[in-house]
Amino acid sequence: MILLNPGPVNVSDRVRQAAAMEPICHREPEYFDMQDEVRARLLELFDLPKSEFAVGLIAGSGTSAVEAMVCAGVPAGKRLVVVSNGVYGDRIARMAEAHGIPCDEVRFPWEQAADPERVDERVRAIESAGGKIGALAVIHHETTTGLVNPIPELAAIARRAGARFLVDSVSGLAGDPIDVAATDFCAGTAGKCLQGLPGVSFVFARRECLRAAGPRRSVYLDLADLCARQDVRGTPFTPAVPIVNAFREALRETAEEGVAARIARYGRAAAFLRAGYARMGLAAWLPHDRRSNCLTTLRLPPGRTYADLHDTLKREGFVIYAGQGNLEREAFRICNMGWIPEAEFARLLAVLERWVRPGA
Ligand SMILES: *Cc1c(COP(=O)(O)O)cnc(C)c1O
Repeated sequence: MILLNPGPVNVSDRVRQAAAMEPICHREPEYFDMQDEVRARLLELFDLPKSEFAVGLIAGSGTSAVEAMVCAGVPAGKRLVVVSNGVYGDRIARMAEAHGIPCDEVRFPWEQAADPERVDERVRAIESAGGKIGALAVIHHETTTGLVNPIPELAAIARRAGARFLVDSVSGLAGDPIDVAATDFCAGTAGKCLQGLPGVSFVFARRECLRAAGPRRSVYLDLADLCARQDVRGTPFTPAVPIVNAFREALRETAEEGVAARIARYGRAAAFLRAGYARMGLAAWLPHDRRSNCLTTLRLPPGRTYADLHDTLKREGFVIYAGQGNLEREAFRICNMGWIPEAEFARLLAVLERWVRPGA
């Protein structure tokens, strides 16, 4: 089955075999060697100095990393400003609410990238009303639609406001370019563009911010504690050992390919697929200049249903995704993340074209 959904993704045999390991104890050196290598490789792949950044590995899906980041990222008594143009931005606002963190949401229509000028205006308005902003959060690649937000411009706004900059790059890291060093916290996962299996996620955290983390809003997702224990070859809880082993193999593979080369490979696949969609008359949901390298939202042709499209493709060995949230009836999504042989993209276009133009 070729997975064209935004995670979990197809992985190489190497990664799969690494998950089929014999059980080992997570309190033994063989586990900590694995954990050390995963943390060190993540820093290396994203050009982060170990003296400035820590990595907190978490046994959980991408959402657990985002929630750990939100819990640690907002100093006591301060507000979180969330820039939102999709389901994942809204999810961060819901996390803030769940943990009693005062939150302001700056919302944009789903087909629009966040406008830094408008974000800046809102930040200044909150400040002049006496609000103390502790952090600004945004989604790098909004998987709801496949849109990439302007990270450098938003980082500058956070810096100017003296606020921490929190980025959910769960579907962005190794898929679309990002300067992680310009963030204070950045959440990611093994099971998307890093081509590992689902079940392990992580947060890059600026050490200086971790020292002043808190208050402690969660026990399981306490990022300062996770990082401190992992720094000394420890772990507070039972990790997903086979998935961590598979992630280690996936990171070795990513290092061999190179992050920039992987991003370029995804970009070529997306360009090839989009040219095909255009030829068969399938309209893209987003304007050209904001689309990510790894996900395309397309409009459903009039009178056709997603269920029929999904089942047709699945019979041919492809899994796609429905539109998210209120796009469900109008749009569908096709991703090109993961370990997918190039020939499969041509086959996908052929199957899709037969569905779009039956009898043509
Ligand atoms: C996939 C994703 C997540 C996390 O999803 P999980 O199902 O918890 O792995 C968070 N943010 C974004 C932008 C995502 O694409």
